[in-house]
Parts: sequence; C-alpha cells; structure tokens
Amino acid sequence: MSSIFDLTYDELESILVSNNFKKFNATQVFEGVYKKRVSSFSSISNISKELKSFLSSNYSLDYLEVITALRSDDTNKYLLQVQSDAVECVLMKHDYANSLCISTQVGCNMGCAFCESGRLKKQRNLSVSEIVLQVLTIERLENIRIQNIVIMGIGEPFDNYECLVKALDILTSPKGVMIGSRHITVSTCGIVPKIYDFANLDTQVNLAISLHAPNDELRSKLMPINRVYKIKDVMDALQYYIEKTNRRVTIEYILLDGVNDSDECAMELVNLIRGKLMYVNLIPYNSTSHSEFKRCSKEKINHFYQILSRYVGVGVRREMGKDIKGACGQLRASHNGNE
Ligand code: SF4
Repeated sequence: MSSIFDLTYDELESILVSNNFKKFNATQVFEGVYKKRVSSFSSISNISKELKSFLSSNYSLDYLEVITALRSDDTNKYLLQVQSDAVECVLMKHDYANSLCISTQVGCNMGCAFCESGRLKKQRNLSVSEIVLQVLTIERLENIRIQNIVIMGIGEPFDNYECLVKALDILTSPKGVMIGSRHITVSTCGIVPKIYDFANLDTQVNLAISLHAPNDELRSKLMPINRVYKIKDVMDALQYYIEKTNRRVTIEYILLDGVNDSDECAMELVNLIRGKLMYVNLIPYNSTSHSEFKRCSKEKINHFYQILSRYVGVGVRREMGKDIKGACGQLRASHNGNE
C-alpha cells in the first residue's frame, strides 16, 4: 500500500477523477490529511463512504516512527525510522520561529571530506512521503508548527530531484502543509544542471550552495563533485537562478583550521561573490572522533569574518545543539554503534 503523503495535489486529483470521484474531492481529502491531520480516512467528515473505502484500501496515513529524540534548550535532534533505515532531522527553536532541517537520502554519495553524513554511502533516495513526513511527524510529536525548513540534512537534495520537487509542492501548497516558499531553503553541493532546472521552476524557495573553498584546487580536494562541476560553472548557474528568481543565494563556507581559513582564501572568496546577490554563511566546524580536520579558534573565525565583512554580506552560523551530537550524521552514527 502506498502512502497518501506521496501524492501532490494534482496527482491526487487525477487519481480521484480517473476513479470516478469528483475533482473537488481532492481538496476535501488534502484538507483532512494536511489541515485537520486526521489519523484515519473515515474521520474526514464531508466525503462519501465510497471515497473513504477507496482511500483506506489503497493508501496509508502512517507517520514515521521516532527512534530517538534528544532534546536541549534550543535544539532537538531526532532519528526517524524510514522502512528499514533511519534518517536524522534537527529542530532549531528560535524565539521567532521553529526551523526543521530535513534529509533527502539515506546516506550520501558526494563524499565531502569534512562530512559525517557522507561516511555512509547512499543506500537509497527517500520517497516523497518520507521527506514530507519528517515535518508532519515532528509537528505532531512536539505539538508545534514548523515555520522554516532547511533541506540540508543527510543526502544531496538535487541527487533526488524529482522527489524533492514533489515534496516541495506538497509542503508549500496552500491546500497542503502551507509553508511559505520563502521560508524553505534547499542546500546543494553544486550539481550544476539541477541548479538550472531548479531556477526554471520559477519557485521562491531559497537556494544555498555548499562552497567551502574559493578555488578549484582546494575545492576538488574537499568536495569530489568539484571535479565534475567547477566553481565557475556553479557561479554561472547561481547567477542564472538569481536572475530568474531575484532571490539572494547563500554561500555556505565551513571553516577548517589551516585548510581554507587564510587571508588569501578570504580574498579569493570576496572576488568570487562581490557585487552579486549572495551572502556568505560561515560555519564553525564541529570535529568528531574521526575528524581529520580541526575547528578554527574564535579569533580566526572572527578575523576571516572581518575580512569578508568589508566587501560582502556575511554572518557566522549560530551554533545549536553541540551538546546533543549536533554535527550532521552523528546521531545516526552513534545509533549504529560507529561513534
Ligand atoms: S556535505 Fe552534503 S553533499 Fe557533502 S557528503 Fe555531506 S550530505 Fe553529502
């Protein structure tokens, strides 16, 4: 039986119509599922017995099982069961809103040298429902609403492009979860053709790029994807996205001690993005017991920040959840006995 959460509104509508139900039934079902969050189709009050029976025989309404929930003041981290696998998601509780970081794959094939998640090779793509249900499951578990979503958990979202786009459709649909497109950010390591596809969707969903190095030589060492798509190609694609959407792009830059934190690196980064609708998000590195990299001192982070801030928009990511295995992939690694 497939999950009702796999279907976009348009898909549900066409399935219902081809089974002799009415177009407007799709709105009733979507409202029951996403607005009222019913736990059985029979609880959707305004639909016929035949439709209830059709839905119950063909679709499940199951949410994901929570394996582990680690909570701290500002951050909760969860391990969720997806079939025989597990994925992580992280809830960041800001004063103004709740943000959820969600995953798109089990494991990841991109092999970024500094990434804990990438230690497990990609096992499979998450389905549409498994992406959407991370949000719904945490909302139900914590009895909250999520206002912001960042798609930068485990996996490369553009390596699961079709499911990502359908999940975004459901999450942003006024008939579905209804989270504003501008409150969602997709982070990619730089799969250039998909950046163009994403720009052509004409969506207002934000885009972030994991850059992490300002030249090809260094970036190819840290991120194997750079051997396929060079920085210039990535920058051209980002400029195309900016022109299509008029949205500012976030450049993610994880600071690794003695690797990409020199004054020269700072100026190379400035030269790449100066004058463009881009903003740099500096990320202090979280080392683990397996790390070959070290965290920069506060002074170094501040020095790098100061150089950039003279020329471009820049911020340092506020650190949350360090006390609860905050680095991406650490919770699942510890669940599997690897940490
Ligand atoms: S940083 Fe992202 S793309 Fe790179 S290995 Fe980790 S999860 Fe994959």
